[in-house]
Order: sequence, then C-alpha cells, then structure tokens
Amino acid sequence: MRIDIVTLFPELCDGFLSTSILGRARAKNLFEAHCHQIRDYTKNKQRQTDDYPYGGGCGMVLYAQPIADCLRAVADQCAQQGRAKPHVVFLTAAGQPYNEETARRLSSYESLALVCGHYEGIDQRVIDTFGDEEISIGDYVLTGGELASLVVADSVLRLQPGVLAEEKGYQDESYWDGLLEYPQFTRPEVWEGQAIPPVLLTGDHNKIDAWRGRQSRERTRQRRPDLYDQWCATHPITQIPRWKRTERAQLIKTDAQLDAAAKLFAEGCRTVCRDVCTEAGLAEYTPEAMRQRLEEERKAGWAFYLHTTSDTPDGMVGVCHKTGEIGHLFVTQSARGSGIGTKLLDFARKKLAEHARPWLAVLDVNTAAIGLYRRMGYLPDGVRNMYQPGVDVAFCKPCKEFVMRYQPQD
Ligand code: SAM
Repeated sequence: MRIDIVTLFPELCDGFLSTSILGRARAKNLFEAHCHQIRDYTKNKQRQTDDYPYGGGCGMVLYAQPIADCLRAVADQCAQQGRAKPHVVFLTAAGQPYNEETARRLSSYESLALVCGHYEGIDQRVIDTFGDEEISIGDYVLTGGELASLVVADSVLRLQPGVLAEEKGYQDESYWDGLLEYPQFTRPEVWEGQAIPPVLLTGDHNKIDAWRGRQSRERTRQRRPDLYDQWCATHPITQIPRWKRTERAQLIKTDAQLDAAAKLFAEGCRTVCRDVCTEAGLAEYTPEAMRQRLEEERKAGWAFYLHTTSDTPDGMVGVCHKTGEIGHLFVTQSARGSGIGTKLLDFARKKLAEHARPWLAVLDVNTAAIGLYRRMGYLPDGVRNMYQPGVDVAFCKPCKEFVMRYQPQD
C-alpha cells in the first residue's frame, strides 16, 4: 500500500510514520508513505497557502490550487509506479464519522491520499473535485488535519500484512468483531493486592477464550449499548450449547421445587430491578411473595420448570400454553455465563410447540436478557407496560416493559 499525506506540516507526519511499529514496517517496505508540503505547490511569490473567506467571517481558508496540483502530482507518481489512482480522503470536522469498519475498507486501497486542512478549512471546490470522501475522527474540532490523518494512517497501515507480528493481533482487538476487547493483564500476578482473574492461569485455552468472550460482551453491553445492540442483531445464536449429563430441567411439582424457584425468582427480580426500583420496592421481592405469585400463576395456566446442575437449583423458566408467553427466565448469579439461560429459553420455546411465535416481556433495563433474546430470534413487538416513579411507587426511575416475539429469519 502507498499512503500520501498532503499537509502544511509534512515533517510532523513523517516523524510519526517513521516511529515504532509503523517505522519498522516502513523500513521493511511493508508500505510506502510520502508526506507532501502544500506550500511547494503554490504559484504566488509569497508562497501563500490561504486567504480570507468569501462572505466574511473569522480565520483563513486554504486555497484550492496548491492542493489540487499536489494531488495531481501524487496521481502521476502512482501512475508511474503502475498503481491505481489514489483514493482521496479529506479530513474534515464535518466528515463522516470514522470507525474500524472504515479503516478496514480503506486498507484495501492500493493508494490512499489523505488531505489535511488547517485554519478554517479548505476551499470546498477542491474537496468536491478531488475528494472521494470526507472523514471526521470524532465530534470535536482540531486545529489541523494532521492528527486526524495520522489516526487514519495508523489504523489503516496496522492492517497491512506483516505490519503487526500476527494477524490475530488485530482480529482479537476492540471493534474487529463489533465488540470491545476483554481486559488484559501482565506480570506481576498480584499487583498492589490485586490478583489477576484465576482463569488466566489455568492454561486451558477453551476456558480462557470463553472467559474473554464473556468479558468482551459484558463490557460492550455496559459501555457501548449501541454497539452491543448491533452485535446482537448480527450474531444470532444458531447452536444451542449441549446439556451436560449433570443438568436437568424438571416440571415443578413439589413444595421444595417451588421454594427453590421462588428464591431464584426473588433474586432475579432484585437484580433486574436494582437500578429502577426504590429500596422499599426491592424489599417486596421476597421468596415468600414470589412463591405466592408462582402459585397464582400456576392456577392461571402457567407451568414452571426448575433447572438443576448436580441437583443444585440454578435456573428456572415458565411457559403459558394458553397465551404462548415465556416468563420468569432466571439463572443464579453464580451460574450466569454458563449457557443455562440459552438452553432454558430454547427448552421453553420447544415446550410451546403449538405456538409459532411465542413471546416474552422484558424490562428495557435488562439489556443482558434483551441481548440473549435478540440473538435467539426474538424481536421487539410493542410495549406492554410503562412504569413512572410517583405513579408506580416501587419505581424510582421510569422504565418500559417490552414485548419480544420469536421471529426466526426464514
Ligand atoms: N471550520 C471547520 C469546521 O467548523 O468544521 C474546522 C476547521 S479545523 C479548525 C481545521 C482543520 O482541522 C480542518 O480543515 C480539518 O482538516 C481538521 N480537523 C478538525 N477537526 C477534525 C476532525 N474532528 N476530524 C478530522 N479533521 C479535523
């Protein structure tokens, strides 16, 4: 790949591209980089590159002509090398937001020219004539396009073969698969009293990968719900994890089973509602109250199943054959992340085989459950309840209860 940067500060850009990982890769000719001084292409005696804006206003605007001539020279050099015409990107605060997907797209061009503005910007006519696209690196304004062009160059060049030691180096990183990266740790094993997560010392790569995957999803869900939502929509669960020999899901018949389910139900409600309910509201989720509710719902046609691992209750789910509703899917805190929720949701849907489109209700704050439902083929299908503090005394924040309906992609 060849990268050309068109700038008033070529030394600044060149220095960066000659340093560290990119510098070593450049020295090995893994890519070619050229930084061009816009001033060298001026045609006036003073070698002036900018002028006042037409229509008035503060600041100066870069002339079209020197940038146009510089880009023509770059195109000629590429042609002489037998390369394709460069893809021209203008770095502007008003451009399209930049992300890893754009980096990957730009990395596939044989030649890329990055044009840096300065002062108030660049005469729009040269952007319209030469630009293939305008990119902004974020919702803030820099004094010049140099840092922005280097951000683009760095993120694009590290994707070139051989620049990073291993391809896996970038494939595991944040944004590659639409998720943020899991946390990283290095020596010492205990630093200022903080030990690293024990799984990383097991040497069991399946376990480590599974832990990292969970961390990645959880971080993305908490820090970037927008990315998580997109990821869930594009990563359906197509393979249900296998039931282990020690796992069972049994129809709740005995008092002991009902007590265990009521405990799970109470714990689940307190966890889901901890950010939206008042202390008094949360205190109402007692095993006794939840048991009463389960008994009433059973009379109304619900069937509940208790999941156990080695005879220890660690999950539950309910189905209503009359309405096709799935409900009360809860997994104990310690068993979360082990696939029990996925298995129970699949199990419940299969129990409702007479309903083509079973459905469930979920609070908008329960983003973990929404993510699972989405990945299992359930899509939002309206709002069932809206809770308002003051009106609904148990709530301290407004929240909604969505309906999600099973809608497999045929
Ligand atoms: N007047 C411009 C505006 O309001 O959009 C800002 C010009 S800025 C002070 C000068 C130059 O910095 C721009 O021409 C552009 O090349 C660069 N620049 C500033 N912010 C940027 C961003 N967020 N992304 C990419 N380039 C940026």
